Amino acid sequence: MRPARALIDLAALRHNYRLARELGGRKALAVVKADAYGHGAVRCARALEPEADGFGVACIEEALELREAGIRAPILLLEGFFEASELALIEAHDLWFVVQADWQIDAIERARPAKPFTVWLKLDSGMHRLGLAAQDYGAAWHRLQAMPHVGEVVAMTHFARADELDCDRTGQQLALFNQVCAEASLPTSLENSPALLGWPDVHGDWSRPGLMLYGASPFAGTHPVADRLRPVMTVESGIISVRDLGVGEPVGYGARFVTRRPSRIGVVAMGYADGYPQFVPNGTPVAIDGRPGDLVGRVSMDMLTVDLTDHPAAGLGSRVELWGGQVRVHDLAARCETSAYQLLCALKRVPRTYV
Ligand code: PLP
Repeated sequence: MRPARALIDLAALRHNYRLARELGGRKALAVVKADAYGHGAVRCARALEPEADGFGVACIEEALELREAGIRAPILLLEGFFEASELALIEAHDLWFVVQADWQIDAIERARPAKPFTVWLKLDSGMHRLGLAAQDYGAAWHRLQAMPHVGEVVAMTHFARADELDCDRTGQQLALFNQVCAEASLPTSLENSPALLGWPDVHGDWSRPGLMLYGASPFAGTHPVADRLRPVMTVESGIISVRDLGVGEPVGYGARFVTRRPSRIGVVAMGYADGYPQFVPNGTPVAIDGRPGDLVGRVSMDMLTVDLTDHPAAGLGSRVELWGGQVRVHDLAARCETSAYQLLCALKRVPRTYV
């Protein structure tokens, strides 16, 4: 069998959820959308369900996958519903949903559910993606509260730049949220992972951690709080071929690496078809049998190459970590101008093993 695999540490996931709870408001909604950022939504939700206050997903298809797997905890549709006909399924499966636009309020008004809906009313406090504008928010909230079939309303917003710790945009978004919601006295939901980890003064009743649950930091470099996270996913594979090369020999497509000394090159069964980024610089860190090493040459669809010259004990079958406990996914992301979010979500074809 191809040696590529992703090990998922569910104890680390639970540790990170507890950290989110400790840092945030009273309750934490574990965001498990996009197949739990590539970690497997059902397995992650099952591991967290005994202690999680609820789960956040992007759409009803993701919610139904969890319900069909037996998850009974509250599930919030973070983008709400996309068409009014979804309200019947929302009712049938007892889901919560975000309201982010007026047309959704019209649809809710027309619905007649047997049990009141729980809705999270989203304010566009500056991200300008989803949510009601500040001048429309009060009217929307009054309208919803006047409907007998609407139960709890939670006031929420989403930060656009909380991962930039020296940027005052988060403070501005928070100030607008506080101003607009001041008279509403609704439960609130504010923090995503960067806000939980980096903005200790931001506190809603419900936090919504995603990335941090999986042990990745939204910040570049070390951070005193983010460093307490434990990585959940380790992506590793094995060396399937070894080449001894003289000086001046090119390696791989496009000769992106040329040996400058007599070299041993190892071929690892992992490529961009697995979700590993294609364009990473020579010297991108890997761990070879637990020791720091370098990726060299261009990443192919199914393989990549590493420099074994300084790893005399390594050879066929040696284990190579692409990211995990030794090569943190956010550090790798910073090296190749992407994000830990993207790397985790892009993983495919690699079988997951839960430990
Ligand atoms: N809340 C909302 C509305 C989101 O869209 C997301 C993710 O994009 C999250 C929370 C979780 O964010 P993060 O992964 O940065 O914690």
